[in-house]
Amino acid sequence: MEKVARIIQELDKHYGKKVWSRWREPVDELVRTILSQNTTDKNSLRAFANLKKRFETWEELLQADEEDIIQEIKSGGLANIKARKIKGCLTEIKKREGRIDLEILAKKPVPEALDYLLSLDGVGPKTAACVLIFSFNSPILPVDTHIHRLSNRLGIVQTNSRGKTQELLQKIIPDKDKYSFHLNLIEHGRKVCKAQKPLCFDCFLRELCSYYQNLQPGTPS
Ligand code: SF4
Repeated sequence: MEKVARIIQELDKHYGKKVWSRWREPVDELVRTILSQNTTDKNSLRAFANLKKRFETWEELLQADEEDIIQEIKSGGLANIKARKIKGCLTEIKKREGRIDLEILAKKPVPEALDYLLSLDGVGPKTAACVLIFSFNSPILPVDTHIHRLSNRLGIVQTNSRGKTQELLQKIIPDKDKYSFHLNLIEHGRKVCKAQKPLCFDCFLRELCSYYQNLQPGTPS
């Protein structure tokens, strides 16, 4: 079995094969992903919960002062920038659709849905991919810092940017495995293949890993 297929299989074996179910409706997912930029899940989820508590609908948020939005999302960091991005995206969606709703993306071919999201100011490839895979089960693989780091350490790709990693993984990882691979690799990055100090000697992927194979004898890991 080729290396990538074995990595996918091992991840599924250890963390369980993830089966898609909708996490949030697409506008919620878009807002939640914008809030997740440059912060932890814990902080961004708190910011998202605050927003949902304060504003009953996205329409209500649109009418609010930017300062009120900033107050609610402070816990996620970069609140000024994120408040502006969220308001900008919701304004544009309303302008295009007549309401703040992105269910229309379900009817579009995936590349067209991706272009739609990327054309919103402040939405990059990872955010667009998150909306499509988590809200619509589209075969698009979001690449965050964990996925980028692990894919390079494992030797699945050799890249210097998340964008390039996303472009390559999109082709390398079979569509049927993208969802589970994404979630399981993030889990592995948090628990084992940590950014500063990967726990290689406790890692079930070490025999498949380029980084581990290149470790010099005696190198602490
Ligand atoms: S062997 Fe080390 S570098 Fe490779 S995936 Fe495991 S923890 Fe990460």
